[in-house]
Amino acid sequence: MSGLALGLPPEFSAALAGILGLLIGSFLNVVIYRLPKMMERQWALECAEIAGKTPESVEKFNLLVPRSRCSNCGHVIRWYENIPILSYLFLKGQCSVCGTRFGLRYPLVEIATGALFFFCAWRWGLTATGLAWSGFAAALLALALIDWDTTLLPDDITLPLLWAGLIIAALGWNPGVQLNQALWGAVAGYLSLWLVYWAFKLATGKEGMGYGDFKLFAVLGAWFGWSALVPMILMASVIGAVVGIAMKLSSGLREGGYVPFGPFLAGAGLTAMLFGPQSILRFMGL
Ligand SMILES: [Zn+2]
Repeated sequence: MSGLALGLPPEFSAALAGILGLLIGSFLNVVIYRLPKMMERQWALECAEIAGKTPESVEKFNLLVPRSRCSNCGHVIRWYENIPILSYLFLKGQCSVCGTRFGLRYPLVEIATGALFFFCAWRWGLTATGLAWSGFAAALLALALIDWDTTLLPDDITLPLLWAGLIIAALGWNPGVQLNQALWGAVAGYLSLWLVYWAFKLATGKEGMGYGDFKLFAVLGAWFGWSALVPMILMASVIGAVVGIAMKLSSGLREGGYVPFGPFLAGAGLTAMLFGPQSILRFMGL
């Protein structure tokens, strides 16, 4: 059905979606960097209000304002320095004024988003289904990196994504997932990790994960249906454990010895999108 909606050949619609993905990837870089900072500012504001202090006046800071700057010299990034991939290559990954290196992660996030959008348009065409899964993939990528950096999974992303999964199932836009499978998937996803969390906490007195993880697993249940939960949690747990042990051995663990679980849940979700949830069991030899 690729491209039927606009009468375009599938290669063309996928390429078009890929370019859109590069631009969305550029925006995701902003979201990944700024959203946690926006949350911290909001919390600080609320704390000040509760304590009855007048909050200090702070300059505006959201996803659009202020414009992106070099973290070293403050040079405002101009539009032609902000073109996905091309600007990075042209500037050799450096600030045009002071030469500070920009992380390789920026172009990698753009390429990954472009590739995911390309895949979605190839598989589902420029349709509501293709658009929905593109949005799903972009949101999971952002969640994975925000959680890795900050151990936060913002409600501003997980909750709309949960609603979106239920809504596309209700509209019949999610092939193979009926509304009741999506609904019970969301319920079972949340409750299963909630139970593990409390069992672990009562047994050891420690917190093994956070509420964001329950919400993210509920998201995966809503988008893939309840029957996909077991393969996805198996994959996330096994890979998460392997990476955690590898980081411990190489003493790359951060303070508190905590490895966030969100990136592995998101990785399982993206794998399920690309190859189908049941293929995860085949990959794992089960
Ligand atoms: Zn600079």
